[in-house]
Amino acid sequence: MPELSRCIGPLIDPPIESYTNGDQIILEPSDDANETIQIPRGLLTWHSSFFAAKLDSTADFGDCGANRIQTKEKLEVLKVFFSWVYTRRLKDPVRKPGDKEYLEFRLLSEVWFFGDFYGIPSLKNAAIDMMHEQNTISFMRPSDLRYIYENTLPVSELRKFVFDSLSLVQNPKTFFKLPQEDMPTALVWDILKQILIKMNGKWKPVSRSAWAKLNRCVWHDHAGPGGMVREEGRAPKRLKLSNAA
Ligand SMILES: [Zn+2]
Repeated sequence: MPELSRCIGPLIDPPIESYTNGDQIILEPSDDANETIQIPRGLLTWHSSFFAAKLDSTADFGDCGANRIQTKEKLEVLKVFFSWVYTRRLKDPVRKPGDKEYLEFRLLSEVWFFGDFYGIPSLKNAAIDMMHEQNTISFMRPSDLRYIYENTLPVSELRKFVFDSLSLVQNPKTFFKLPQEDMPTALVWDILKQILIKMNGKWKPVSRSAWAKLNRCVWHDHAGPGGMVREEGRAPKRLKLSNAA
């Protein structure tokens, strides 16, 4: 495994009290009526601006008395969130032969969407980091690329990551082997613009080790814990960084 770049964003872990602050909030998945996850109120409202607002006793639209919230997420995504909240890992380490080292790209995308919707920037960054690392050994499937392009805006960090992974890790030989019918048209246009305008017609992929060393913060959201930022009344700040390709 090549050496990976490191995040220079804020590492703002929750105070220890947040693990015991308040009751347990039950999050219900959209696809399983029998299983839920539970997270202490203080921890949930530290990380997420959405839940901090929803559970805010002073907000008109809040519901501070709620301890059970129906989400639109599937159980698999909530379980990844649960793991990350307590361990900062999206999954358990590999313990035995056959265990997978990474989550599937599709699931990582869904985790990123979850973090985006519920205002949890560091969770989005963790999903990007696993995709970045995984991209040193495997590519996303075109169907995953399509899924991401169909669910993001052009300014999205995830879309930028996907574009960079295609334009820097792929090369003409591998790119044209991808099934055309699954490729999102907007992505193909973005690649064409990149090659014809910014690269003067020459596709210049980088090596896997160079890809691993790329500054991953260009795909990160460094706003800090959503709930904490909301609490402090600070506007989210984003670092302006250039890719060190
Ligand atoms: Zn970063």
